[in-house]
Amino acid sequence: MSAATSAAVDRLADATGRVELHDVHKAYGTLEVLRGVSLTLEPGSVTVVLGPSGSGKSTLLRVVNHLEKVDRGFVAVDGELVGYRRRGRTLRELTERDVLRQRTRIGFVFQSFNLFPHLTAVENVVEAPVAAQGRPRAEVEAEARELLARVGLADKADARPRQLSGGQQQRVAIARALALRPSVLLFDEPTSALDPELVGEVLDVMKDVARTGTTLLVVTHEIGFAREVADTVVLLDRGVVVEQGPPSQVLDAPRHERTRAFLQKVL
Ligand code: ADP
Ligand code: MG
Repeated sequence: MSAATSAAVDRLADATGRVELHDVHKAYGTLEVLRGVSLTLEPGSVTVVLGPSGSGKSTLLRVVNHLEKVDRGFVAVDGELVGYRRRGRTLRELTERDVLRQRTRIGFVFQSFNLFPHLTAVENVVEAPVAAQGRPRAEVEAEARELLARVGLADKADARPRQLSGGQQQRVAIARALALRPSVLLFDEPTSALDPELVGEVLDVMKDVARTGTTLLVVTHEIGFAREVADTVVLLDRGVVVEQGPPSQVLDAPRHERTRAFLQKVL
């Protein structure tokens, strides 16, 4: 661990919903996908990550959830290192069990919904809080039905995924992520697989979630959502943060040529 990284670990504050990436590097073989990414997400803030295909956006989300290990630097959620604990000046890997415990504090919504096809909507929502958090099924089920009502699916609680539209499936996936009562929610292009007329209903649910104080980290090409909801917009290109700031700056007055070029393609 470098002296700068060590000092940054020392400064980690114990704040629920805070996410910090410090000088994060990640390579697959010789392909360097993240090349020194540093970002801070304040509790309850909404951060939208934009960037060309292959720029490392999904990898960025995966290191936050410890689905990938970082090669250098660190990620911290709620003031706690992700996947590691500190021993003097070295970082020791957490046990599998502790990694799973950490992961339940972070919700993940994927482009492809990833619902269990053989389970009903409510069963999909109930699964993780019972299996991973050991909460009582009856209590979780009552909460799951409330969450499904909140995403507009009270009448679909007992339907299976194949009976639901893509937009409805994605709203079940959001309810499922919320059921873990996460301090941080990660979204990886949650509307990219949807027919255009179904995008709005999912973005509306995300806006509602944003108002509740959960920290959101959202990869999306929906610039309108970024403009309306994001506190911070980040432009990632070839594994580095090219630009970050409020939407009014990054989207309307970008400082970097690469940001301008990217926005011209998606707007
Ligand atoms: P984005 O989400 O911005 O499109 P990704 O983070 O998915 O980008 O991928 C960044 C680069 O890393 C791409 O070139 C991709 O092919 C590569 N990559 C992603 N995951 C793996 C993996 N598990 N093994 C090897 N290469 C990968
Ligand atoms: Mg991706």
